[in-house]
Amino acid sequence: MSTTVPLAGSLAREASLQRLRETARFDVLVIGGGATGLGVALEAATRGLAVALVERDDFAKGTSSRATKLVHGGVRYLAQGNIHLVREALRERRALLSNAPHLAQPLPFVVPAFGLRGRVWDRLFYGTGLKLYDLLAGSAGLADTEFLDRAGTVDAVPGVCVDELVGSVRYWDGQFDDARTAIALARTAASHGAVVINHCAVRALLHVDGRISGASLADAETGEGIDVHADCVVNATGVWVDELRRLDVHPESHMVSPSQGIHLVVDRDFLPGDHALLVPKTADGRVMFAVPWMGKVLLGTTDTPRDTIESEPTPLIDEVDFILGEARKYLARAPSAGDVRSIWGGVRPLVRPPDAGVGDTKDISREHVIVVDESGMVTVTGGKWTTYRAMAEDVIDRCDRAGLVTPRLPSCTLDLPLVGAPAKATHKISDPPGAHLYGTDAQVLDGLPGSARELGMGLSEAMVRFAVRYEAARTVEDVLARRARILFLDAALADALADEVASIVAEELGHEPGDLARFKALAQRYRTLPA
Ligand SMILES: Cc1cc2nc3c(=O)[nH]c(=O)nc-3n(C[C@H](O)[C@H](O)[C@H](O)COP(=O)(O)OP(=O)(O)OC[C@H]3O[C@@H](n4cnc5c(N)ncnc54)[C@H](O)[C@@H]3O)c2cc1C
Repeated sequence: MSTTVPLAGSLAREASLQRLRETARFDVLVIGGGATGLGVALEAATRGLAVALVERDDFAKGTSSRATKLVHGGVRYLAQGNIHLVREALRERRALLSNAPHLAQPLPFVVPAFGLRGRVWDRLFYGTGLKLYDLLAGSAGLADTEFLDRAGTVDAVPGVCVDELVGSVRYWDGQFDDARTAIALARTAASHGAVVINHCAVRALLHVDGRISGASLADAETGEGIDVHADCVVNATGVWVDELRRLDVHPESHMVSPSQGIHLVVDRDFLPGDHALLVPKTADGRVMFAVPWMGKVLLGTTDTPRDTIESEPTPLIDEVDFILGEARKYLARAPSAGDVRSIWGGVRPLVRPPDAGVGDTKDISREHVIVVDESGMVTVTGGKWTTYRAMAEDVIDRCDRAGLVTPRLPSCTLDLPLVGAPAKATHKISDPPGAHLYGTDAQVLDGLPGSARELGMGLSEAMVRFAVRYEAARTVEDVLARRARILFLDAALADALADEVASIVAEELGHEPGDLARFKALAQRYRTLPA
């Protein structure tokens, strides 16, 4: 095991476990290390509260590593007339883009128009809607919506299908690296004093006289049990909030309507250039994106109601056919099944209206909901990645109003840079991955062994060491799925790199990571389309 130089917000496991064991009582215990829980931990810590956050698997292992990677106001919510939701998300878009410019940046989107209908009606309809989007953004706007003619469209999106193309509307939104943003949130919360730990699950909730008073944890590595006590317990477990509520006082909890979305990843030459493509109305009335991301292109997504929730959601053949079918209509060179480098899915935690059964989830609100139960447990779910910070601020305000916490400071997260944030980005998120994703921490990489030794797709030996020393990576999967995104970008390459990564992780941990065979099976899954 090697020595580690101190770095703001490094996530040291043994020290975190020790603080969990020794702290008599926290102000806030957050359960769940996705965007929502990490946002709540950071909000609470920066308001002067003593916070612990526990994640049963890895940070962002759930839905928060499986987004379409858009930091967006939600063009489709505009179409639904949900102005409040759009305005809030546009404010949050600005905040994330300026607080983490190494991880979240503006991206131009092109909405193509075809044929006679496109010449007049579609351009007018989408152009007007997107001008309204600019207006709602106000000073948080990124750049003006414009009409492009046919030549301008082909110039911006060289991969677009030109048959009957008449022009397009170009607007701006943001894109980000979701999992690395989650890690940055964890580290930023730790730098403000929070105890933030992964691979440590809540197994049971603790109660005194019917009021929730903490949770029993199990360290996934050693099996050690630790009881943690807190004045306020926040259930931020995404699509799993009902599991936790059932451990509390609601044996029949059904707050969430799970909706699966999958993505297919193909090579960049299917969509060269640095613009994303938005298909505004797919065959079944949704929108679909082709987004340049980290040197590849993401195609997605779907909206499939599910009644079971898996930690590794299973893509369905119909979802694959739908995405490839839509891509065929809009891309000049149509990708086929053999072109897919990685396939993965995530499950949206949509909040179920009181009398809804399992059904069409595309019309369920994407807004978040906060519930304070009779036991005092606070559950937050719904929303989207883009609005994680606003959700977190709402949660702490709600806990304050319920008398569960007394924040000592006002909220400051709207303008709080995340760890590593440089003054200005040096590369685009759509560029192939590399040291630019580490922002100002890139200089620490230079001082680690193996900084000049690239393993593949921008991942160096030093990055693997950095992941273990500072970013709480404990397994091959933690490194190749969420510190580097290679599993999501090219599953065959992730498989090929796994042995090498495992041996560097073993050197850093002082023992084998233990998940090598499991990771290889997972990589196989990410490279295999459903039959
Ligand atoms: C296909 C798809 C595309 C999307 N695209 C976008 C997009 O482009 N932009 C956008 O803004 N939003 C997008 N979203 C929405 C966004 O990803 C989610 O709203 C967000 O990630 C939810 O975060 P969360 O923290 O609530 O849930 P999660 O990320 O699932 O986190 C919950 C965590 O709780 C943990 N947990 C569960 N039980 C326990 C326990 N007992 N003890 C400890 N931990 C536990 C889980 O392991 C998990 O890590 C998309 C969602 C999907 C599915």
